[in-house]
Amino acid sequence: MRYGCIASCSFVHQLLCLSTSDDLFSLPYCPGKTLVIGASYVALECGGFLAGLGLDVTIMVRSILLRGFDQDMANRAGEHMETHGVKFIRRFVPTKIEELEAGSPGRLRVTAKSTETDEIIEDEYNTVLIAVGRDACTDKIGLDKAGVKVNPKNGKIPVNDEEQTNVPHIYAIGDILEGKWELTPVAIQAGRLLARRLYSGSTVKCDYINVPTTVFTPLEYGACGLSEERATELYGQDNISVYHSLFWPLEFTVPGRDNNRCYAKIICNTLDDDRVIGFHYLGPNAGEVTQGFGVAMKCGVTKEQLDTTIGIHPTCAEVFTTLQVTKRSGGDITQAGC
Ligand SMILES: Cc1cc2nc3c(=O)[nH]c(=O)nc-3n(C[C@H](O)[C@H](O)[C@H](O)COP(=O)(O)OP(=O)(O)OC[C@H]3O[C@@H](n4cnc5c(N)ncnc54)[C@H](O)[C@@H]3O)c2cc1C
Repeated sequence: MRYGCIASCSFVHQLLCLSTSDDLFSLPYCPGKTLVIGASYVALECGGFLAGLGLDVTIMVRSILLRGFDQDMANRAGEHMETHGVKFIRRFVPTKIEELEAGSPGRLRVTAKSTETDEIIEDEYNTVLIAVGRDACTDKIGLDKAGVKVNPKNGKIPVNDEEQTNVPHIYAIGDILEGKWELTPVAIQAGRLLARRLYSGSTVKCDYINVPTTVFTPLEYGACGLSEERATELYGQDNISVYHSLFWPLEFTVPGRDNNRCYAKIICNTLDDDRVIGFHYLGPNAGEVTQGFGVAMKCGVTKEQLDTTIGIHPTCAEVFTTLQVTKRSGGDITQAGC
């Protein structure tokens, strides 16, 4: 499980027993029937683990799941949650939250409005978890006086590929960067490499593309490199090959669990030796699997190199050594066994 908080919401929590993810982790009582507002990884992870504890969970989604991630994968992760009891209210935003009864937990009435029609819905929950993102606190540190450009919408700072702001002697790293990953190891790596470039003559820059990461939804989603959407945008539909397969982990077969739900996909650049530019895995232990393939991608792994790698049987990761069916072919990707 990931850690942390949506810190800006604690005020609401005190008034109405609404929770941020921080509050949730230190809650001294069971949150009861919970509404999660948002569709980021924090929202889906929290919704997923609360449902895993047996709670009645609903996730209210304004537009899409896991913005910025491969949407095919995001929807598959969401569908899996739905089949395992998490309810989704799609294309609605909350307009009013009223406290009906104080308590631990209390009772709240939530009113929400459709983003597409005039439809209004209402329901009661014990806890509302707000996971709608974070703003960078860059407005009170005098950046305006130094002349550093900041995106006024979210407080984020644009930098070049050396983390240099528009003021050449001022650099920025970590979550406050515009358009970069909000991940601990990314912030650490960027800082480490910046220090080496500034003080020990290094020229190595932080690679913000091949960042392996995992969303810890009930069925975990690991990714590295480009989403299918971004790869298509950058290279064009005709210049990428997408290989994919469903798979059935050995540990799922005995209890007959979730056949043909786990999914593997790689995106290859046909203009560059079928180099793997996107790696996507939906299945158990996604972080462990994705970390290793992240190294391979850093080394520029090609489809042929994956094909000539001998798989470890019976594992989930071996599916990446046997991918044969392209999306373009429309071939059957269902699997009958592990
Ligand atoms: C719920 C949640 C779950 C997450 N899970 C993961 C995960 O599983 N894996 C992962 O890699 N990342 C995860 N992250 C993201 C990760 O926490 C951030 O990417 C990481 O902390 C960014 O590091 P940073 O140094 O840029 O910012 P921060 O860690 O936010 O550090 C910024 C620091 O600056 C301080 N500060 C702010 N303003 C001032 C000021 N004016 N003066 C002095 N100090 C100031 C803050 O108090 C803070 O200590 C998660 C984040 C959240 C919210």
